[in-house]
Amino acid sequence: MMWAMCEPVQRAEEDGQTMGEPLGSLFGRPRAEVEAAFPDRESVVCPICQVEPRRFAVDFQGLSLARCPTCRLELHSPRPTLEQMARAVYGEHYHRADEAPADARHRRQYGRQVDRLEQLQPAGRRLLDVGCGAGAFLRFGRERGWDVEGTDYVLTPWARESGARVWEGELPLVEFGGARFDVVRFNHVLEHTRDPLSELRAARSVLSPGGVLLIGVPNLAGASLRVKSWQSRLGLKGKRWRHYAALHHLWFFTPATLSRLVETAGFEVAHWETPVLALSRGPRLAYDRLVERLRTGGILDLYARAV
Ligand SMILES: [Zn+2]
Repeated sequence: MMWAMCEPVQRAEEDGQTMGEPLGSLFGRPRAEVEAAFPDRESVVCPICQVEPRRFAVDFQGLSLARCPTCRLELHSPRPTLEQMARAVYGEHYHRADEAPADARHRRQYGRQVDRLEQLQPAGRRLLDVGCGAGAFLRFGRERGWDVEGTDYVLTPWARESGARVWEGELPLVEFGGARFDVVRFNHVLEHTRDPLSELRAARSVLSPGGVLLIGVPNLAGASLRVKSWQSRLGLKGKRWRHYAALHHLWFFTPATLSRLVETAGFEVAHWETPVLALSRGPRLAYDRLVERLRTGGILDLYARAV
């Protein structure tokens, strides 16, 4: 078995596109197939409030979407176990060799993140990329003069071949031997984890003083995703709630709920934005600029510091 959680094939989480569906496996498949692959489901409580969430929808594949009645954090509960997902979702096609070098779109995304990190001036340039996937950011960060290291639940051969120092396992369980980092980055990873609060607490414990946390996630408060949620509620979509991508997403964040989670883990938010990375022209360009200015894009990038 070989899989890793970050940045799967064909990930396209911008406005107007379906969130992060890798090719193959169970994505888009009928409910009966999904139910056969996930015989067991586990209930999850809100990690911030320790409160039982309330189900607000069932998606077209029979997966449960729930919301904490106290803090409004949305999560997948009851959910398949991570071990079942490892077999049924994160198969060997989840990452591909051609993802190992970043494509043009990812280079724009990564460049923007590195620019922002350099503005925020962490104490040094040692960065831990959690969920390093095929290793594209391990390579990109090094090109930009950063000392990048990575972890993943299961490392891909391309991450191992990147030349970067890498560790295998869920972040809270990795033993770093006293290593400290100036930046810890979770790029489209946190929404896949078993417990995002324990991931962020583990990140805090390996950050140097003055270190910066960077989290990229789908933004459920983004304009086009809100429209899709209303269409799903009203029964106007053939594949209801597909935009939540609950087949591999266990947590669904907005700027408000992600900020609260980050604060609960001992950070304060320094900056957040919703970068629109598509290259558009004409009226679409004007719309994209407006979405970015209003911070209602489909991707949320949040930067925080330990307090
Ligand atoms: Zn809560």
